[in-house]
Parts: sequence; C-alpha cells; structure tokens
Amino acid sequence: MTFNVITLGCKVNQYESQVMTEIMLKDGFSLSASKDNADIFIVNTCTVTSVSDSKNRKLIRRIRRNNPDSVIVVTGCMSQAFPEDEVYEICDIVVGNTNRGEIASLIKSHLKSKDKFYEVETHKTGEVFEPLMISDFEERTRAQIKIEDGCNRFCAYCIIPYARGRVRSKDPGELFEEAKTLSAKGYKEIVLVGINLSCFGQETGQNLCDAVETVAKVHGVERIRLGSLEPERLDPEFIERLAKCKKLCPQFHLSLQSGCDETLKRMNRHYTTAEYREIVENLRNSFDNCSITTDVMVGFAGETDEEFNKSLDFVHSIRFGKVHVFSYSRRKGTKGDLLPNQIEQSVKSERSKRMIAVTESDRKDFLQNQVGGVYPVLFERKRPDGYWEGYTMNYTPVHIYSNKELSDVIAEVKIISASDDYCSGELV
Ligand code: SF4
Repeated sequence: MTFNVITLGCKVNQYESQVMTEIMLKDGFSLSASKDNADIFIVNTCTVTSVSDSKNRKLIRRIRRNNPDSVIVVTGCMSQAFPEDEVYEICDIVVGNTNRGEIASLIKSHLKSKDKFYEVETHKTGEVFEPLMISDFEERTRAQIKIEDGCNRFCAYCIIPYARGRVRSKDPGELFEEAKTLSAKGYKEIVLVGINLSCFGQETGQNLCDAVETVAKVHGVERIRLGSLEPERLDPEFIERLAKCKKLCPQFHLSLQSGCDETLKRMNRHYTTAEYREIVENLRNSFDNCSITTDVMVGFAGETDEEFNKSLDFVHSIRFGKVHVFSYSRRKGTKGDLLPNQIEQSVKSERSKRMIAVTESDRKDFLQNQVGGVYPVLFERKRPDGYWEGYTMNYTPVHIYSNKELSDVIAEVKIISASDDYCSGELV
C-alpha cells in the first residue's frame, strides 16, 4: 500500500515527518509516486497561529474530497493542542505528538478492523525525549536532527508549550550515532533543531555546546548549523565555547519578537533589549562575518504607536541579516488572547509594511557587505537559468555560473555583486 506524509510548519515537523516516513517504509508500506494520490495520507499539522489551523483543515478536507477511500491520519501540534476539532470526523486516525512511533501499527489495525482510532495522550511531567532517529533526509545537501523538544516558557502569544510539553533533550550518544549515519549517506551539513533549542540539556546539566561538540566529532560532517535560538542561556562563556568549534556556521537566528521592553514584558519574554543587544555584540565579536537573523511580531496586544516606533528603531539599530516580520494573531488558550487593547488589523498591516521596508533595506546592506569577500559555498542545485545555487557558512545565498558539476560540493567563491536577496560570485 502507498502512503504520503504531508508536512506543515517548522523544521522540527520536517524531521518528525522523515521519522514517520522511515517507520512506514520499514513496516512494508511504500511511498506514493504522486503527491495527490495514495492509499494513506499522514498529515503532520502545525498550530502556531489560527491561520495554521485553517490551513490544516482546508488541506484535510481537500484530501478527503479527492481521495474518498484513502486512510487519513492526523498528527502533530494541532491534534495535540486542540484534540477536539470537527475536522477529525472525516479522519480515520488521530494521534498527537507523543505517540508517533505507533503510527504504522495503528494503520495496520485500522486496515483490518476499519475502526477509527483516536490516540491523543496529554504531555506528562518528567516525560523523556522520544528516542526516534532518521537515516536520510528529503534535502540532499543538509540534514536536520531534532535534539530538543518542548518549552517551559509560556510566552503570552504562544500555544506551543501545550502542543509540545516540557523541555527534554536527545541523548548525546544517540545524536552521535544519528549524525554518523547521515554523514555516511553523504550529508556534509547537519542542522540541529528544537522547539526551544537554547534549552538543550537543561534537564541533564548539559548545554547546546555539548551537542555541537558531539556532532563536530563525526568524520565527514563539515558544517553544523543551529536552528532558531531563544536569547537565553547564551552567556559570554557559552558563546566563547561555541566559537571554538570551527565547523559551526556563524549564522544565528535569535528570536526577538519585539524591540520594545514594555511589549516584551507583556509578551512574557524573559530578556530586555539591552540584554539582547549584548548577546548580538558577543556573537559578532566571537564569530567572523557573523549573520544575525530574527523574527519580529507587530501589533501584539496593547502595542502603542510609541512602543512600535521603539521596536522599529531597535530592529534597525541591530542591522539584521534577515528578518521574518509577522502580525500578532490571537490564539485561544493563551494569555495574550485575554489581554485588553487588541490592535486593529489595519494598524497591524500598516506596522508590518513599515517594519518590512526597514528590514529589507538592512538585508540589502548585509548582502552588499559580503561583496569582495572569498567564502566557501556549499552548492545545492543548478537552477533552470543555468546558475548554481549554494550557501556560505553565514547562510548568504550565492549564485554562480559554471559548467562544472557542483551539486553537494564545497568550493571557494569570490562574491562580486549583490542583488536584493542573493549574491553573485565566481569560483576562485
Ligand atoms: S520560547 Fe516562547 S515563543 Fe518559543 S516555543 Fe516557547 S513559548 Fe513559544
């Protein structure tokens, strides 16, 4: 029987979809040749905003319409955080984030009995990291490894701690073995990802440096990249230790959310803009040509014009390499939803436009600053226009024209020009 896994959301979900794919293949199912047709569809949902939930529902309804006889399995953050939703009525199996390992056996039971299964277990205190591993990845040049799950933070706008439970971390021995397997498959770059990655090892007395150093020992891994980080636990000693690992890419996606202290406080974020700036300075002083990227939210409950302007000025002053700007959307079950002075959509859109304009101009400056430098680029693919596309250590996208076969090759490139969203160069 054939199956498809459809992934919505973040890098952690991508990793977990790969885990489920490998479990299904081991159990004798085969991947469908078509994305639109299969005997079994596994939908790995995201619930980060209410828009994500609407996308999940729309997708599930479309699959059911086009495939009335297929088995539909729903898993991921929406089924975990919102175990009651009318869309589950048209699904055959609903599981949460805690029992993905059982998916293949649940499907087999359903195929025999035609019974519907509803298996969403709530997260428990003291829960341990699910010992799942992958041996391959969809992308050819870099593979992701989930090393941390859960979050203890409860930011006022975020539902994720309800969907993911408390912080728990992958065993370093298992991390080493998984990175070794992926390296043997030819992956030169490993991306370490988590829900609150900065908290890796918090419950075992370790920290993220231990994970980076573990992967750095694996022969064949040439680059290690970190997924999104929270600005916590990143003290000067930690940064100094990280900087000793020469395989670590100097690209840090350091979640900001707001550049205004009053807004950060209402968001229940646990740092000030001054502390954030200090972390950025320490990173820039410790890593050559370091790129700092972030997420910024506009229009959080109670954000006045003055607060927004403070946020805008702060964001501009950091000169981020890239910023993902998004408008706050209310989330049922969070503290933010209950706060007074919610912001009108028109104001949010206006603020979003202003923030994007500033951050796009800062991105152009960042790319322009790369011109003249010579950097190793890991090439990924040949574009339809004949140019090869790859990334530097600090994740600058680079295009070059070459007749050589460069897929999966790391080569030195001189950057000769910059456009709005990438740099162009030539092989040295
Ligand atoms: S740190 Fe805040 S935003 Fe990030 S997952 Fe935890 S609660 Fe959500």
